[in-house]
Amino acid sequence: MDFKLKEEQQMVREMCRSFAENELKPKAEHYDRTHEFPWEHVKKLSEMGIMGVVYPEKYNGAGMDYLSYAIAVEEISRGCASTGVIVSAHNSLCLSPIYYFGTDEHKEKILSHLTTGEWIGCFGITEPEAGSDAAGTKTTAELKNGKWVLNGTKNFITNGGVANIAVVTAVTEKGIGHKGLSFFIVEKGTPGFSVGKTEDKLGICASSTTELVFDNCQIPEGNILGKKGDGFKIAMHTLDGGRVGIAAQALGIAQAALDASAEYAKMRKQFGKPIADFQAIQWMIADMATEIEAARLLVYQAANYMQTGDRQRYSKYSAMAKLFASEVSHRATHKAIQIFGGYGYTKDYPVERFYRDSRITEIYEGTSEVQRLVIAASTLREYK
Ligand SMILES: Cc1cc2nc3c(=O)[nH]c(=O)nc-3n(C[C@H](O)[C@H](O)[C@H](O)COP(=O)(O)OP(=O)(O)OC[C@H]3O[C@@H](n4cnc5c(N)ncnc54)[C@H](O)[C@@H]3O)c2cc1C
Repeated sequence: MDFKLKEEQQMVREMCRSFAENELKPKAEHYDRTHEFPWEHVKKLSEMGIMGVVYPEKYNGAGMDYLSYAIAVEEISRGCASTGVIVSAHNSLCLSPIYYFGTDEHKEKILSHLTTGEWIGCFGITEPEAGSDAAGTKTTAELKNGKWVLNGTKNFITNGGVANIAVVTAVTEKGIGHKGLSFFIVEKGTPGFSVGKTEDKLGICASSTTELVFDNCQIPEGNILGKKGDGFKIAMHTLDGGRVGIAAQALGIAQAALDASAEYAKMRKQFGKPIADFQAIQWMIADMATEIEAARLLVYQAANYMQTGDRQRYSKYSAMAKLFASEVSHRATHKAIQIFGGYGYTKDYPVERFYRDSRITEIYEGTSEVQRLVIAASTLREYK
């Protein structure tokens, strides 16, 4: 196994790390406090090719590999976790199904505007009654006079309030569970399509999380992705990839917590010496560093498996990477507050934000319980 990054991957790491250090980190607190969408960051990331990392140059993408993408999300999230999820949801959740299941026309007319960051994308499967159980979808799509007519509400949609393009699931045949779902592209401005409630969240406060409301929303017949009935399959394919992005986001937050903790521990003095001299603090630092490195190996391995296209393998590894990295991030940010003591509990230092931001990585794109279901099913299949 070769652990050395390729020149291109090293270059992405350096570029995104420097952007995170110089531009994201200094402004992350402002965006967290104001809940403003960080347009300035998205604009610069678009210029850097990060809004279409893995998509071919033919569609204005940067044509890089999945490991480069994971590294980009990791480094960006190290500076600002909200910006990390904006990038991840856009690339993994909206662009991916259009690229893998769209027609040439979808790719030319829609994907090519998303890869440049000129348009922002979002992905909606979640509904009030369909969370972990995506088959519980109530939104419907009926074909009438050559148009799909959508009715229903999606909730908790990342980039929902800013997106030009939404890709969403809807029921096209009732009574047959997940086999009755199809997947559609909806453009902003389509009559009957609106943004509903904006969520006021614990963390990742600069990212937009909203409802999407469809009220007799008519879209062209050709805006279906894949075939009628392919919706669940497309959603699962998309989430298998998306989980690598969220795993990378969790990893970046954990690394930021370690960076801040090590610097603080060397600077803060109690009992006449830096707290870094106390074994209790050293053990926390050691555990954080070890777990983060283990998470990094798992995330990078999942990204490499995605590159091979071996779906069975990367489905399991992306679930493992997300499960492990998100729980590492939880533990690392928890320890970071402990190392900062009372100061860590205040907004004077960033570690309370890291703690809040990390929490969602155990929930979205499948909770930790759902990841364990995926990993267990895949592992048990190997023993038949
Ligand atoms: C900030 C944010 C951003 C989001 N972004 C998006 C987005 O862009 N697009 C989108 O479609 N969705 C998005 N979501 C939705 C997210 O993916 C769901 O919240 C998540 O999948 C869980 O669904 P739920 O909240 O309905 O919880 P539920 O499914 O109700 O789960 C509640 C609890 O029950 C557990 N549980 C459920 N089923 C099982 C089971 N079979 N076995 C064991 N335990 C189980 C869960 O693990 C959890 O602990 C976002 C959510 C948030 C909060």
